[in-house]
Amino acid sequence: MKILNRRTFLAGTGVAASVLAMPAISFGQNKPRVVVIGGGAGGATAARYIAKDSKGAIDVTLIEASKQYYSCFFSNLYLGGFRDYASIGHTYEGLAINHKINVIHDWALSVDRTAKVVKLASGAVVPYDKLVLSPGIDMKYESVSGYSVDAQDTMPHGWKSGSQVQLIKSQVENMKEGGTFIMVPPPNPYRCPPGPYERVSMIAHILKQKNPTAKILVLDQKPKFSKQALFQEGWENHYSGMVEWIGSDFHGGIKNVNPETLEIETESETFKADAASVVPAQKAGSIANTAGVTDGDWAPIVPATMASKADPNVYVLGDASVASSMPKSGFSANSQAKVAANAIRGELTGSKVFTPRFANTCWSLIATNDGVKVGANYSAGKEKIEVVDKFISKTGEDTAVRKMTYEESEGWYSGITTDMFS
Ligand SMILES: Cc1cc2nc3c(=O)[nH]c(=O)nc-3n(C[C@H](O)[C@H](O)[C@H](O)COP(=O)(O)OP(=O)(O)OC[C@H]3O[C@@H](n4cnc5c(N)ncnc54)[C@H](O)[C@@H]3O)c2cc1C
Repeated sequence: MKILNRRTFLAGTGVAASVLAMPAISFGQNKPRVVVIGGGAGGATAARYIAKDSKGAIDVTLIEASKQYYSCFFSNLYLGGFRDYASIGHTYEGLAINHKINVIHDWALSVDRTAKVVKLASGAVVPYDKLVLSPGIDMKYESVSGYSVDAQDTMPHGWKSGSQVQLIKSQVENMKEGGTFIMVPPPNPYRCPPGPYERVSMIAHILKQKNPTAKILVLDQKPKFSKQALFQEGWENHYSGMVEWIGSDFHGGIKNVNPETLEIETESETFKADAASVVPAQKAGSIANTAGVTDGDWAPIVPATMASKADPNVYVLGDASVASSMPKSGFSANSQAKVAANAIRGELTGSKVFTPRFANTCWSLIATNDGVKVGANYSAGKEKIEVVDKFISKTGEDTAVRKMTYEESEGWYSGITTDMFS
């Protein structure tokens, strides 16, 4: 367990031994305490907004397993050679130093909602008045026959960022001349609906330069996909003859994958890959289930506040939540975090609570300066988060519009990561 706060950062000593020795960690005993589990798009934003806007009136603790957050968003641009790996990595110093958030690098093992405490892998116990869960996703490895934790070494899913994405990059770059890369995108619902198809585009971008006779075969677990017409037009324009997409209606479903031979068996045919990525079905990060706030794979929430339907003192953000028509995206998680932060501050300090509004845009890069987007604004209905208005790029758009859309996405990345970590 490592605790980062303003004092330890400034002293440069890392962890105070006296704190480590304590079985129960309790910061700011006289203030209301918010504990956030998961320092990604939802959790880091929520922690930052609660601490920043309450101006010290609320004690905020962020529990995050990793010292460095590698964003899934723009991991495809890293794959395509548009960004280096370091540019998608972020640390938590800003939150500790600028907002006095107690950052604990540890694994949250369980939540006792009656005692209102979080138990950490190190054995420490952290009490809360309000708990925010934004643990992202876990894989349902068993959803694809033949796939497993071990199989991800040869058929990486790359659906959590970090080393899995590095592995895909190395496999693509080292694939034999004229080889076949097979991608198996996940069934709905999953993190980042256009993500697999942007990934295919970025792999095609690399192969076109380094291995132009190579092929990409997409064996989808769905009959259709997000921004389909835009991606298929882009693949034809930029990578003609290289990318073939086969929907589940045509191949009949994935029957089995073999991580040793790289064979992928569908109901109609068996395909052999030279490199492959298999993305299984997904569910809320395990702590949501352990905390008892999931119903099936995901955690239902009250739209106006993002509070769990199972417990008014627990809030669930981002991919782990059932946010109705909002896609599971970093933009959505960041937007939901601000709604939750506002509601939590209101409850704990009596501050004014604004009408909740949500927004999302998912940008995708198809080729150099060819960016497309889909998005919507949302309001909080009684039962569901509801669409207010929506937009999507058009096929056949002018190249100047596509370039502008790509540039917009670069601005968004820099904006959201500042909003999460500064
Ligand atoms: C290829 C790809 C491309 C994408 N592109 C985009 C994009 O362009 N735009 C966009 O908006 N979104 C994009 N996304 C989706 C986006 O990454 C996710 O929707 C977003 O990260 C969700 O935020 P979150 O807070 O729910 O989870 P995360 O950001 O994954 O954060 C969860 C954090 O919780 C931590 N954690 C989990 N459990 C525990 C525990 N028990 N104890 C301690 N820590 C824990 C994890 O270490 C992790 O850091 C993309 C995703 C992928 C896979």
